[in-house]
Amino acid sequence: MISPVLPSYSRANLSFVKGEGSWMIEADGRRFLDFTSGIAVLALGHGHPKVVETLKAQAEKLWHTSNLYQVPEQIALAERLVDHTFADTVFFCNSGTEAAELAIKMARKYRDANGEPERTTILTFEGAFHGRSMAAISAAGTEKLVKGFGPLLPGFRHLPFGDHDALRAAAAEPDVGAIMVEPVQGESGIRPLPDVCLKGLRDLCDEHGLLLILDEIQCGMGRTGKLFAHEWAGITPDIMLVAKGIGGGFPLGALLATEEAAKGMTAGTHGSTYGGNPLGCAVGATVMDEITSDGFLDAVNRKAGYLRQRLEGLVDAHPDIFETVRGSGLMLGLKCKVTNLDVVSAGYEQGLLSVPAGDNVVRILPALTITEEEIGEGISRLDAAAIALENRAAAE
Ligand SMILES: *Cc1c(COP(=O)(O)O)cnc(C)c1O
Repeated sequence: MISPVLPSYSRANLSFVKGEGSWMIEADGRRFLDFTSGIAVLALGHGHPKVVETLKAQAEKLWHTSNLYQVPEQIALAERLVDHTFADTVFFCNSGTEAAELAIKMARKYRDANGEPERTTILTFEGAFHGRSMAAISAAGTEKLVKGFGPLLPGFRHLPFGDHDALRAAAAEPDVGAIMVEPVQGESGIRPLPDVCLKGLRDLCDEHGLLLILDEIQCGMGRTGKLFAHEWAGITPDIMLVAKGIGGGFPLGALLATEEAAKGMTAGTHGSTYGGNPLGCAVGATVMDEITSDGFLDAVNRKAGYLRQRLEGLVDAHPDIFETVRGSGLMLGLKCKVTNLDVVSAGYEQGLLSVPAGDNVVRILPALTITEEEIGEGISRLDAAAIALENRAAAE
């Protein structure tokens, strides 16, 4: 008999009743060090006092008004995002997928507004992940995402990762209007786009009048040590998708755009009942204030350097278990030689939570507020997990 919850996830047999900073606690009191932060969602960790206080204070005042009216919390968060980024304007939604949907709609509407209705094709890359709606899976094109869900939405061309000639040729096609890409691919195994490639993409977009759409849903909001990952390359997109970390655990997504890219999106062209609700936006403003506060990102970069060095040490110590470390900031991947799911499970035995990803990678995505001491503790637990896997292999 089917479970009351649709069985569309393969879940670990763990269940938590409380979170404290970088720790998650089961009903029996067992504590797990959290190297997942809810898949890059809890940027400030579990139960951050300022976030909790903001949510409580807003809950006492006003939860929801709809977008029939001005929403001051929405304006306040939009102003912060505009102040700190390339963007001129922001639309709020409730998830990354919704931001991806709007990006696709906006890119098409832009061409409509420009009188170039034939330029609807968006170039995307192998290994991409933009969410689970029909448009988002059609954009990614990955077999695992689309199998059995056809017919897919037309209007996407999927390019191999890192094939510059294919990209150059595709960008020059008359039906192409935009390029959509993650600066660091998350789901497919922490694959960063080198800075020079991001610069090259920007140049290519400028050359052919294409919109550059960056999906920073996982790699944004301080995760790589800059507020947004593309800042490392010194370029700006035309449209950017944000979600996960921005809500610090409250469901919140946003699409950021230049005035030019947004010019087709006039009154009545898009909307969301819950999008931009006062609860989510109040929390988002607190998260933004923390991440952009003096020294916050410097600390992320210091901790990221330390974590990376300790992970390299683990790879050296366990060459039969791990192959390499890759990624950026606190968005790191351990490419495994044994099955990544076995490493994640062995971590559970040691009270350590990590996230499996594509390409046999284990994702290490701690809260940006994790301490060096907690990083050290997490490494000890991963070390113990690797030893347990080595012992098991030796016993077979
Ligand atoms: C998580 C993620 C999404 C989808 O976000 P949801 O909030 O799950 O809809 C899209 N793109 C990237 C890069 C992601 O990591």
